[in-house]
Amino acid sequence: MSTDSPFAVPYDDPFGVHNLPYGVFRTAGRPQPRIGVRFGGRVLDAGAAARAVGAPAEVSGLLSAPLLNPLLAAGRPAWTRVRAALTEWLTGEQHRAAVGPLLVPLADVALDLPFEVADYVDFYASEHHAVNVGRIFRAGADPLTPNWKHLPIGYHGRAGTVVVSGSPVVRPCGQRRAGGEDAPSYGPSLRLDVEAELGFVVGGATGRGSRVAMDGADEHVFGVCLLNDWSARDVQAWEYVPLGPFLGKSFATSVSPWVVPLDALAHARTAPPPRDTPLLPYLDDAAAPPRGLDIAMELRLNGHTVSRPPFAAMYWTYAQMLAHMTVNGASLRPGDLFASGTVSGPEPDSVGALIELTHGGQRPVALPDGSTRAFLEDGDEVVITGSAPGPGGVRVGLGEVAGRVEPARD
Ligand code: CA
Repeated sequence: MSTDSPFAVPYDDPFGVHNLPYGVFRTAGRPQPRIGVRFGGRVLDAGAAARAVGAPAEVSGLLSAPLLNPLLAAGRPAWTRVRAALTEWLTGEQHRAAVGPLLVPLADVALDLPFEVADYVDFYASEHHAVNVGRIFRAGADPLTPNWKHLPIGYHGRAGTVVVSGSPVVRPCGQRRAGGEDAPSYGPSLRLDVEAELGFVVGGATGRGSRVAMDGADEHVFGVCLLNDWSARDVQAWEYVPLGPFLGKSFATSVSPWVVPLDALAHARTAPPPRDTPLLPYLDDAAAPPRGLDIAMELRLNGHTVSRPPFAAMYWTYAQMLAHMTVNGASLRPGDLFASGTVSGPEPDSVGALIELTHGGQRPVALPDGSTRAFLEDGDEVVITGSAPGPGGVRVGLGEVAGRVEPARD
C-alpha cells in the first residue's frame, strides 16, 4: 500500500480503526450535511460507502441520515452491527476501490453539531471540583454539601444552546452583584469561565416510569464527546440560590464534533476512586464492573496548556449518573446528553476551570505572551483536548472542543 493511500493510517494514529468516531460533515461541493466517520486524517462519507459496498438496508439507512439521531434511536445491537460494517469497509481489501474515493481529507470538510440534542443535563461529579468551588462560593462552610457523597448532583441545562466546536461564544450579559454592593447591576459578565467536561450521548428510548439501572448503562450510552460548559461566574453566584445554575450557564455549551463510541473505550475502563460513604443500592457500584474512564484531558488558553484534568479521578461514574437521572422514572430520548461536570484532579495544575486555577480570580495565570488571566477576555480562545488508552498501547483520540470569546452585544 502506498503511503498516500487513504488506507495507510499508521497503527498508532489516535483515529485509527480502533476508534472510528461519528460526526456530521459538509463539503464545499456538496453542502448537504451527512454522517462521517473519522479515519486518520480523513472522513469517510458513511452513507455513500454503505451504498457503494451494497450494505444491508438497516446499516445503509442509519448511515444515510443527515444527523446521528436515527442511529442513536436504533440501540446497542444496531450500533454493534454498524461499527462492525465500518471496520470491514476500512480494512477489507475487497472494499478499497469502492470506499477509497469516499475518504475525504479533513481539510476539505466543515463539521456540524452531530446530533439534535434532546434533553441536556449537567452533573457535578468531581469531588475535587466540588470542594474547590464550595470553598470559593461558600467560604467558611463545609465545602461539600451533605448530599454530595450520596447522589450525583446535577441540573437541567439548555439543549438548544449546545453548539459544535468552533462556534463563537458571545460574552453573556446578566445580573451580577459585585462584592460589597447591596444591589445588583446589569451588564456583560466580568467573570467568564470554562468548565472542561466529558459529555455522554444517549441512545435508545425508555418509557416514562421505567429506570435504567447501572447494569443497563452500556445499553444506553452510545459514546462520549468533549464538552465545555462556559460559565459566567458573577451571574451564577448571584442567581444560583436556591434552585441552581440558570442563565450563568445556558448561553452556550460547546461539544467536540466527534462522538467516540463507548466500544472504542474498552481499554480506558478503570475503577473509580474509593467510596468512603455507603451508597443506596441503586448507586452502589462496589461489585459492579469498573466504569471509571481513564481519559487524559488538556485545557489550553490561547494555545498555552494551563491544566491537565484527569477524568479517572471523577467520583461518580456515567452508570451512576444515568441510574440517578432515571431513578424517578424520567424517560430517555435518543439524543439526550448528560455531562460529567468539571473534571478536576487533586493537583493545582489538574483543575478544569479558571475559577479553581486562579483561586476565584485572586491568583491570575501567566501566559507566555506576558499577559495574565483571572477570567476570559474578549478574543481569548479555549481548546480542550482528550485521549484515552486503546488496544496495544495506542491512544484513542477524542479530538478537541474549541471556542473563541466574542464581545458582548448591545
Ligand atoms: Ca458544569
